[in-house]
Formats: sequence, structure tokens, C-alpha cells
Amino acid sequence: MDSDEFRKQGHALVDWIAEYWRDLETRPVTPTVRPGDIAGALPSAPPRLGEPFEHIMEDFERIIMPGMSHWNHPGWLGYFPSSSSAPAVLGDMLTTSLAAVCMSWNTSPAATELEQVVVRWMRDLLGLPTDFTGVIQDTASSSTLVAFLTARNRAGSRQADRLTAYWSEEAHASVGKAARLAGFADHRCRVIPTDDNYAMDPELLAAVVEADREQDLVPGIIVGTMGTTASTACDPLRAVGEVARKFGAWYHVDAAYGGMLAMLPEIRPLLDGVELADSMVTNPHKLLLTANNCSIYFVRDVDALTRTFSTSPDYLRAAHDGEAVNFRDWGIPLGRRFNALRLWVVLRSNGVEQLREMLRAHLKLAQELVGWVKAVPGWELMAPVPMGLVCLRHVPPELAGDEVALARHNAAILERVNATGKVFLSHAMLGERYVIRVAIGSMRTERAHVDLAWRLLSERRVNPR
Ligand SMILES: *Cc1c(COP(=O)(O)O)cnc(C)c1O
Repeated sequence: MDSDEFRKQGHALVDWIAEYWRDLETRPVTPTVRPGDIAGALPSAPPRLGEPFEHIMEDFERIIMPGMSHWNHPGWLGYFPSSSSAPAVLGDMLTTSLAAVCMSWNTSPAATELEQVVVRWMRDLLGLPTDFTGVIQDTASSSTLVAFLTARNRAGSRQADRLTAYWSEEAHASVGKAARLAGFADHRCRVIPTDDNYAMDPELLAAVVEADREQDLVPGIIVGTMGTTASTACDPLRAVGEVARKFGAWYHVDAAYGGMLAMLPEIRPLLDGVELADSMVTNPHKLLLTANNCSIYFVRDVDALTRTFSTSPDYLRAAHDGEAVNFRDWGIPLGRRFNALRLWVVLRSNGVEQLREMLRAHLKLAQELVGWVKAVPGWELMAPVPMGLVCLRHVPPELAGDEVALARHNAAILERVNATGKVFLSHAMLGERYVIRVAIGSMRTERAHVDLAWRLLSERRVNPR
């Protein structure tokens, strides 16, 4: 594609994106395709000769778009949100245009230094300790794996098979996965029960760690969660951290979803105790309009981190190694995208106050929904709502007490609502109880969309559009 053609197609594509966003609401949120439909519509080999971009766009609209779920749709209320904003797209265009591979300071000095600056901005916005240093990883799953690998490396190989790990039964699946990948044996991993609010019980934790110490085991890592995935429960981070400190375990805080909300002073207390953490992860790609992938890993002991990950093959050594940071030593990948640029553009274009306003508006909608649910008999709120997620279910009197039947009943409601294509909700299990999750935080979601979701759930009349 030559430069003139690039200009022509690029301008047309920006128009396409603007119209896509403008008309998003007229599309079903999720597609109706069956597994294999999309692959079956595509040729089995790439073209031998290049094709005009118009043909590619035609196929994109005809074949790919019908198989897309629209995370930017205002009716997107499933999982946790991940929206992209116009600044994120523009920042991404720059990142891909530059194609910088940000492994070392000298492979793009500005990329390293901008990353250092934006993660420091984020650290201060969230009120994190000033001795935390940040690095952008691809996902929270990777960040948590980095924490486990660092904890294990710090403990040394002599202790390896006596090393234990602790997290709550409501912790994200990525935590157990990180333990497995980092070589923590299954029989050395403890899943701590939670209380009525789905938060870790720190006294139980202390008792379990104590018992392990008596067995001559070595507490390696404890994970606390701020904002669990099923219900946004928050572990008592300070009490959990005190246990970690007492027994010398690495303390990792998973705030993948909730962390960004700590830029609101009214939410920040839920992070209280993070000062005791050795590391914390939070994802701008969930609530902060950057789209995937952009996860920030904060860590206190940078030496412990780089001792775990640094490799300095001769061909990567550079004159400035002594004075500059090489992010290749801060995680698993060597080649890294210049993702800091997108986050920087998003932060500057919106400004902190506008981002706070959006986050706050969504939290307020969640509270409104809480009020609506409470007002209708037969509907139950299933967990406290400290953030933007409402867990609910319908309990017809004849099914009360029968968890299996209630799960089936609510799964059918969820399927009926999602089949309308107007909103998309997901579900979770809280212990044995099936709950419908309404996660409010997608950039375009407004009161009308939450209202629509609630009307669809509670089967009141929905005006045709
Ligand atoms: C979403 C989530 C994760 C996983 O995030 P990825 O960036 O997709 O790996 C981990 N922990 C919690 C609490 C989450 O909500």
C-alpha cells in the first residue's frame, strides 16, 4: 500500500470507526453465530497476490463483523467492561506506526521514560506508596504470575518444595494458575474461606499460616483481592497484609478491576492496607478506556523483581545499562509494545476529573439498580455493591431453597435477556449460588441502558425502538 492509498484508506477507516461507534446501539450486543461459522466462511489459504483494501473491508463487514461481540456497546454489562475511547485508538495508531520494540532503554529511550512517568502518575492517582514502582504488563494474569515467580525466586531453591501460597476462595482463577505455573505444588496451596460478604477471613488465614509454620513449611506468598471478579468483594487488605508481614510472605494485591476506582476518594479506603503489599496489579484496560492490553504491575522491591527476570545476553548489552531501566528485566516478554503511549493519550485527552466523573456516574447507576431490585418482590441482591457490579437473582416462592432449580431458573432468565441482543449480562457462582451479574462501567452505558436491562430481567414491558 503506497502512501497516497494509505491516506485515502486511513481517512475512510476513521470515518468507519466514528460511524460504528455512533450507530453501535442499533446492533445486537452479541452475535448469533455457531462455532465454526466464521472460519468456514474464510478461505483456507492467504491470497497469493495482494488485494485492494476495499475488498478486505468488504469481507470484514460481511464475515467478521457478524461474529463480533460489541464490548463498546452501551448495553455491554457482562464480565467486567473494557471499552476503547477515541484517544485510545489514536494512541494505538501511533504505537503501531512507530513499531518500537520496548525491551530496553536504548531500543527507544522515550518509550521507557514515558512508561516510567505514566505509571508514576497512576501510582499517585491511586494513592499508592511512593516506594512503589510500576511497569506495564499485558494482563493481570501475567502480573500475578510475575509476583508468584518473584516470591519463589526470592525464597531461593533450597526452600522451594516447602513453599506455601494462600488466597481466598473468591480469588480470580489467574491466581491458582500463577501458582501452578510458578511451581507451587497443589498440596502447598491453601484456599482460605470467605465470610458472608465474600471477603477473606484474616483470622482463618493466620491460623492456616501458623499451622503451616508448625509443619516447618515456608509461607511464600499471600494474595489479597480488592474487588473480586464474582462480586467485587474486598479482602481486609490491612489484616491480610499483617499476616503476610508477620510470617515473611510476599504480599500481592489483585486489584485488576477495582484498583482504578481508587482514584475516587470515596473508594480509596477499600485499598487501605495496600501499603503493606510487596506488589499490586490493576488494569487500565478494564475501566480506564484503553482497551486491552494494559495492566500495571506495581512492586516495591525492584531488585527482587529484576533478579528473577533479568537476562543480559551479550547482544542486548548497552552502554547505558547502569543508568537506565530495561523493562525486559521486569517481566516475561522480551519484546514489548509501546502501550504507555496509549495510556498517556487517554489520560491527557480526558483529564483526571473527566475520568473520575465517568467512574462515579457508573457507580451511581449501580446504586440506582440496587434500589430498583430491592423494590421488586421476588428479586434478591446477592452481595454488597461497593463498586459498579450488581449481583442479583430471581427467587420464585416455589423454588426457594432449591439451589439447583434456582440456578436453572436464573440461567434461563439470563439467556432470554441476552437473546434480545439489546444488553449482555454474564453470571457467576457465589459459593453454590448462581447469580446474574450486571457490570456497569462500559464507557457508553447510561441510565437508560441499565433501566432497559432491569426491565428485560424483570419482564416488564419494553417499548420497541
Ligand atoms: C479481570 C481480572 C483478572 C484477570 O485480568 P486479565 O488482565 O484479563 O488477566 C484478574 N483478577 C481479577 C480480580 C479480575 O477481575
